[in-house]
Amino acid sequence: MRITGKDWTRLGDRVEALAHFIGHRAYMRMQDDHCAALALRRDAADQPEYFCTIYEQRPQVCRDLQRGSLQCAAERELKSGLIGR
Ligand code: SF4
Repeated sequence: MRITGKDWTRLGDRVEALAHFIGHRAYMRMQDDHCAALALRRDAADQPEYFCTIYEQRPQVCRDLQRGSLQCAAERELKSGLIGR
């Protein structure tokens, strides 16, 4: 996922761990086929759930997609390679 200069600055101390440059463009790092900022925890019902470890500092592209929205689901499907199979 490509990020902007503002996103890079917003990530602060964690930027080197979570983002990197490929050529002249900055991207979030990937880890185990997902964004490096994604982590797993237990919810109140002790069920596993994914969450963003940098929610307050997340890139603009993540801010533009409301969690669980149709646009978000479409992006996930597109990026998981399910469309066009
Ligand atoms: S919301 Fe957080 S975990 Fe999800 S893609 Fe954006 S930065 Fe990564």
